[in-house]
Amino acid sequence: MFCRNCGKELTGSPEICPECGAKPMRGTSFCPNCGAPTTELTEICPKCGARVAGKVAEKADGAWMPLTAGILDLVAGVPTLIIGILLAAGLGALGRLSGIVGFGALMGAIATPLIIFAIIAIVGGVFAIRKRTWGLALAGSIFALFCAWIFGIPAIVFTVMGKKHFR
Ligand SMILES: [Zn+2]
Ligand SMILES: [Zn+2]
Repeated sequence: MFCRNCGKELTGSPEICPECGAKPMRGTSFCPNCGAPTTELTEICPKCGARVAGKVAEKADGAWMPLTAGILDLVAGVPTLIIGILLAAGLGALGRLSGIVGFGALMGAIATPLIIFAIIAIVGGVFAIRKRTWGLALAGSIFALFCAWIFGIPAIVFTVMGKKHFR
């Protein structure tokens, strides 16, 4: 793509243009597709025919995706963590009441994977919200899927689609 502010050809879709320091899609002086000069009123590039303004450019931005993925991770992870802790405590107490040696610990351990999944989802969610360490954010979304698939599936989609916004 080309920086819309200074016209420099860029590799990939960097958040900030290394040449002029602006957000590449924030400018209006050049076509992002071919680098031809445009004005702030140009909607279709006269040289290559690419749409340079309007809904398409907005949609391609997608800066909201990591934040949304992170919130979904937390929505899936936090209740799962609470349920996991309560389950571990409850099952542990039940096991101890049975009076069988080691049974309390065994019952408590059943809830442990739930707690671990939830913690990974929460940590990944925080990294997604801060747009840092994409791999960890993706791991968080995958574990959010184990916690609550209804939140985990969109979290994975938004994490993958919002990858370019991570540092
Ligand atoms: Zn630039
Ligand atoms: Zn063009």
